Amino acid sequence: MGLKSSAIGKEAYGIVSCPYCKSLLIADTGYRSKSCFHCGKRFQLNDRPVLGSGRNAREARELLSKMKAQADQR
Ligand SMILES: [Zn+2]
Repeated sequence: MGLKSSAIGKEAYGIVSCPYCKSLLIADTGYRSKSCFHCGKRFQLNDRPVLGSGRNAREARELLSKMKAQADQR
């Protein structure tokens, strides 16, 4: 299935980018689709590469803030 089963568990939170506005979002990987809170569009999580993951929402948020900080440096 393309996903690393060791990294993405049943209750993992993944970092994905919105295909429309490219915003980084935290997605509960238990769901198949997500609405982007920036542009409001809905997209399928299956189609998106998982850029990172956390075991819980807090871990995912920390990872997301690190990734945003890196993106800002460019
Ligand atoms: Zn968006």
